[in-house]
Amino acid sequence: MKCPFCSYTEDKVVDSRSTSEGSGVRRRRECLECGKRFTTYEYVEEVSLMVIKRDGRRQPFDRQKIIAGIIRACEKRPVSMERMEEIVTQVERQIQKKPDREVPSTRIGELVMERLKALDDVAYVRFASVYRQFKDVGQFMEELKGILVKEKPLIKQARRKTQKNRKRK
Ligand SMILES: [Zn+2]
Repeated sequence: MKCPFCSYTEDKVVDSRSTSEGSGVRRRRECLECGKRFTTYEYVEEVSLMVIKRDGRRQPFDRQKIIAGIIRACEKRPVSMERMEEIVTQVERQIQKKPDREVPSTRIGELVMERLKALDDVAYVRFASVYRQFKDVGQFMEELKGILVKEKPLIKQARRKTQKNRKRK
């Protein structure tokens, strides 16, 4: 496995355990060149799933693509990489159950959103804003309002900061 720090290709496995979902293996590796540690995840390659895009074209299910979207949504939020991996695994498993193994990309977005909503409000709104592409702005605003009410102290802080900034100008 190529070291993410120095690109050396040899390493030793220092720890190996099942992910909490049990469907994969998480390995801690140590680079034999620079000695830094990194983590790899190993999953069984499932029978291929097809994703139906908005324009009707089909594309193989891409775990990395979904994970990338979740990581973006969870930036600076208290959500561990392991939880993010789990979300994708759960979504993947849910689609596997479908007899035709095909799923619209919008459905994947919804499945991810449902899980993010239970984990972190901010990550959920970020993800939703990208996935829904503001098609139903009304509903989106309603959800946003609900979250803003919950986080009122934060908003006050933000306002105070803005006022300070104004004074500085
Ligand atoms: Zn290295």
